[in-house]
Amino acid sequence: MSRDASALARECQRIDGRGYPAYKDLRGAYAFDDLTLFIDHVQGDPFAAPSKLRVRMPMEVAGFDREWVLDDVARVAVEDFVARAVRDAIAEHPADRGGSGKSGTIRIDAGGQEVIERSAAVLTPEWIEARVEVGLPAAGRRILGRKAEGLLCETLPRIARAGLLRDSLDEDALTGFVECVRNQAAIRAQLDERGLVAFVANGARLPRASGASDIPLEGDEVVPFESPEAFEVSLDLPYPLGDSHARTIRGMGIARGITLIVGGGYHGKSTLLKALERSVYDHVPGDGREYVVASPDLVKIRAEDGRRVARTDIHPFIGSLPGDRDTRDFSTDDASGSTSQAASIIEAIEVGAKGLLLDEDTCATNFMLRDARMQALVHRDHEPITPFVDRVAELHERLGVSTVLVMGGCGDYFEAADQVIAMRDYRPHDATADAKKIAEANPGSREREADAPIEAPRGRVPEASSIDASRGRRAVKIDVRGVDAMGFGREDLNLRGVEQLVDPSQTRAVGLAIHHAARELMGEGVTVAAILDALEARFDDEGLDFLDPFARRGEHPGALARPRRFEIGAALNRLRTLRISS
Ligand code: ADP
Ligand code: MG
Repeated sequence: MSRDASALARECQRIDGRGYPAYKDLRGAYAFDDLTLFIDHVQGDPFAAPSKLRVRMPMEVAGFDREWVLDDVARVAVEDFVARAVRDAIAEHPADRGGSGKSGTIRIDAGGQEVIERSAAVLTPEWIEARVEVGLPAAGRRILGRKAEGLLCETLPRIARAGLLRDSLDEDALTGFVECVRNQAAIRAQLDERGLVAFVANGARLPRASGASDIPLEGDEVVPFESPEAFEVSLDLPYPLGDSHARTIRGMGIARGITLIVGGGYHGKSTLLKALERSVYDHVPGDGREYVVASPDLVKIRAEDGRRVARTDIHPFIGSLPGDRDTRDFSTDDASGSTSQAASIIEAIEVGAKGLLLDEDTCATNFMLRDARMQALVHRDHEPITPFVDRVAELHERLGVSTVLVMGGCGDYFEAADQVIAMRDYRPHDATADAKKIAEANPGSREREADAPIEAPRGRVPEASSIDASRGRRAVKIDVRGVDAMGFGREDLNLRGVEQLVDPSQTRAVGLAIHHAARELMGEGVTVAAILDALEARFDDEGLDFLDPFARRGEHPGALARPRRFEIGAALNRLRTLRISS
């Protein structure tokens, strides 16, 4: 039952000057003329995590196209745009910050450069809702009732009207945003039929402002991407491109198979690969990478010594280890660079990766290569590693797994490569024919080292009882400490090697998804891939809210953003407690 806005004002006045816990009396729903305010969770004190509120506006008031609500791509784009609009409105209408602790702060978990389904704003046929966090005002621990009244009855509704009402949004920016995201989805949908794993539009601006920032580098020194003629493809767009009215877009196609990115140091190789890595997600207009689009099944792989590995069959890459350890069923609490890389590749393929992205900067050299001189010095019988160079072609031919590899330092991959992109002064060139000629003229004396052909990895079955998100009195304790680290129960889970996690709210969703999977999905014979299928089906049907216990009762779900299956699997595989039953 919702009360009206004047009841909220009266309640705020009534509790003025009382101890902070009296704020709990405000919990409930309040009907304004054009929206409803839900106060779901009230913080325990002014310094605690802020209170969780939702503002909901009926769709006939908000005025978004029904067609947008019903199409998943457009819906996510509108939700994302609205969350950003609410964030801008918060900056424009700051609340009175007077008071102790978090008094007067208002936050929304709007995204960064990527457009990802998230819990911050939700669009349904009936309504649109923004989920915000608010610091309820206090002096010391005494409630500032008048300030609370202003915050909840005036500032917050004003912010909601600025962000949720279509009439108050910039219409061109809104439709441009939705069309840009839809164009990206349309490009992604064409990749497969064109035999491509990725596309980089002419004019794309790939470099970032700094190594610590994801915003575009600005200035005259930025060299816009321009495809070599040989790799240029033209794809269709459902919506015109910017002001040009063009319904096609030209750029570089990266074909299925094996693609090498070569070139001198500091010529833009890693920048290109990083853009591909990120382009499994859509980007906001103006990012510079909004028309860099990759297949959603590409997985970045890197060496990650120290990681946990649980019963993974790494023998295609690592034969018998010292002490006769069986690498068909390999576990370790402290992987080496090469074993970690082998395990990450096998795990990714196990759950459906269709392409691998590797950068020499973050690969284990002994995993990637073994040249003729080293073959002569260290006999094969004493080297357990079958280097990646001897498996890369087979991965594609037998398992349909493509590879895009940055390799500036070694030509041993020339034979295997289908496409060689040479970066020079940030400009790509077609070096395929030259690389092939050089490989023929200098065959070298290194010998291929793979023996048995590679086979599809077996499906591993995780044990639910090995996964425990509880700590102390809390049944579920998942603390996100940034995009690449989380406390999961009593464990510190290190996700630095999982480079395609891009948002801390994805990290939180990963933690909750693993907990959910352990409670509801894992069982006898249920493989990691089957678990990820079930999670994805649930995300598709219900969105993200089901992950959060409060949201299951219809309340504010906290900050969540949708992770890919590969990142959920990668996090599960890195849990130090994980046991695999078969
Ligand atoms: P590499 O991997 O070939 O050594 P990087 O990709 O790390 O080179 O790029 C080196 C530097 O050049 C980085 O600081 C990057 O931001 C910058 N850079 C990359 N691409 C461009 C570009 N298209 N225009 C301007 N600067 C670029
Ligand atoms: Mg590099």
